[in-house]
Amino acid sequence: MSRPILAPKGVFVDNVWRQTDGGRTVDVLEPATGCLIGQIADAESVDVDRAVSAARSAADEGAWSRVTAADRGRLLSKLARLIDDHHEELAQLEARDTGKPISLARSDITATARYFEYYGGAADKLHGETIPYLEGFFAASLYEPHGVTAHIIPWNYPAQMLGRTLAPALAAGNATVVKPAEDSSLSTQRIAELTAEAGFPTGAVNVVTGRGETTGSALSNHRGIDFISFTGSPEVGVLIQTAAAKNHIGCTLELGGKSPHVVFADADLEAALPAIGKGIVQNSGQTCSAGSRVLIQQSIFDDVARGLGDFFSGLEAGTPEMDLPLGPVINAAQKSRIEQFRARAAADGVPVLAEGRIAAGCPEGGFFVAPSLYGPVARSNDLARNEVFGPLLVLLPFTDETDALRLANDTEYGLMAAVWTRDAGRAMRLARGIRAGQVYVNGFGAGGGIELPFGGMKRSGHGREKGFQALREFSAIKTVVYRHG
Ligand code: NAD
Repeated sequence: MSRPILAPKGVFVDNVWRQTDGGRTVDVLEPATGCLIGQIADAESVDVDRAVSAARSAADEGAWSRVTAADRGRLLSKLARLIDDHHEELAQLEARDTGKPISLARSDITATARYFEYYGGAADKLHGETIPYLEGFFAASLYEPHGVTAHIIPWNYPAQMLGRTLAPALAAGNATVVKPAEDSSLSTQRIAELTAEAGFPTGAVNVVTGRGETTGSALSNHRGIDFISFTGSPEVGVLIQTAAAKNHIGCTLELGGKSPHVVFADADLEAALPAIGKGIVQNSGQTCSAGSRVLIQQSIFDDVARGLGDFFSGLEAGTPEMDLPLGPVINAAQKSRIEQFRARAAADGVPVLAEGRIAAGCPEGGFFVAPSLYGPVARSNDLARNEVFGPLLVLLPFTDETDALRLANDTEYGLMAAVWTRDAGRAMRLARGIRAGQVYVNGFGAGGGIELPFGGMKRSGHGREKGFQALREFSAIKTVVYRHG
């Protein structure tokens, strides 16, 4: 039975949907079938202006500016409960919009609620310090919101990314304008409605949907915003940082990675191999923190290759309802990008160690790609150096600890890493030596927990999200000096 096409909702401003002036729309395609399932508004500058002015009023003199930190926390906690109450509805929407397996969509929504719960609890615990100063003076630092924060979100984990960026910004007292990715705006639209139901005052949360080059650009260049939080490609990251520089405002950039697993000969392979496999397959490899390079000590290279080969040979990609380890990728462009990496690897003669399959019964028009394991891959090869954002895993051998560290750092990226060894001293030397925002030892959680500060070094970007640190990123320190004599 065919489902009705979802109508465009417009832009969410001052807690209600408003039709855009131009009435332009973007088609929403279902990755599992390639079919049209709805439309979203393609907001233009004038619509973005409205959203930014709503946020500006909320931040400067509206009811939101007078909500205490404790009450901000209560609102966020209420939103967390509402997301939990609508868990299955949101998970179904997310799975349909992104193609991800339904159980992954469910855990994403659980994580989304957890972001609002965590920052709900943290909102009234961000405080400054008193500072020893001159005789007769009292000096203190205060954390204040930036004002209006803009949030440009990618398509890979739409609801989770919304929680990751929106919850700490609101907890810190900012008024927000969110631009979800044009490929996956549906869960953000629904959660925006839940913010109104939770009781957030008008203007605290505004959502503009549309294309990056138009809506995203209008938002990031807007003179009415005070800070930008961006997750996406390095190329667009440059545009965001340039826009921020022109307006003399700050930004956080999270731009992906080529994160290594470093597996030493003394590693517990029973623990390592499933974690390595899951870390690249999850979300069809479309995870900024995917462990996409496996660096293996030469003496165990064949054992690891065999173990991961078995894992890859057993993999199948399917529709969200099939709930297999991986779903389709987000769109035709992403599928073609992955196929181009595959074609270049074949032309370069990179050995394919194992391949998974696309499950029988997957719709012809769906954006499915089979997962592949490659190795040994030359250090200079395209596949070893560039982010694929797909389920392609590369294996590279190393000789000793010095070589392992050099190889782990032989990348322009620096988002995450994992070290697998039973030698505690070596684990700590590697953890300190690897230039990445998060390093796991004998474990791997793509992106890590909500409590753990997360972000990049080098070309992976700058600024930290998650954990208590995110509250500081979404705040400005004001120093108050009082000469009391
Ligand atoms: P993208 O960077 O183009 O899109 C991310 C967000 O930025 C979307 O909301 C998009 O609408 C917006 N955007 C695009 N152009 C913009 C502009 N000129 N001004 C302001 N906002 C703009 O990413 P993509 O095209 O969707 O994916 C391309 C590649 O980016 C992927 O293959 C992957 O390598 C990488 N990527 C990384 C992440 C991550 O989590 N780090 C997420 C998605 C994509």
